Amino acid sequence: MMGRTLSIIKPDATTRNITGKVNTMIEDAGLKIIAQKLIRLTPSQAEEFYSEHKDKAFFTSLIDFMTSAPVVVQVLEGEDAVTRYRKIMGATNPAVAEEGTIRKTYALSIDKNTVHGSDSQESAKREVSFFFSETEICE
Ligand code: ADP
Ligand code: MG
Repeated sequence: MMGRTLSIIKPDATTRNITGKVNTMIEDAGLKIIAQKLIRLTPSQAEEFYSEHKDKAFFTSLIDFMTSAPVVVQVLEGEDAVTRYRKIMGATNPAVAEEGTIRKTYALSIDKNTVHGSDSQESAKREVSFFFSETEICE
């Protein structure tokens, strides 16, 4: 089934100037970028976006990291977009991510792990509309 997912290219990637390299891996995996913008998250935006993690020990450092430099937010479209993107992202911890995944290739650590991808259809719907209006998405 054709679907959409929300991707974020995180500050460790924008600061290393590798957003194009990440986009190449996304496109090579058969996902199409149908919306994309470079933004600087505010702390309150980052806290709301990651509210599911607010009680975790890493929450404050996650918010500090995600607001430390610009991020690229994007909508990806493709067959089973959510699960396809999670597969090519690789595991949260790059030390255990599969060869050939974005995180295995580019992530620096479990926190500076290069990309975000929605983890379910419901999250994808919420996260896409968090950053994009329907008129900004080009199919
Ligand atoms: P994922 O991004 O793979 O969906 P989670 O939703 O569990 O992973 O966590 C969100 C983000 O929080 C991770 O991508 C990572 O940047 C950060 N994070 C998760 N676990 C840790 C941890 N143990 N230590 C530091 N940062 C973490
Ligand atoms: Mg997650």
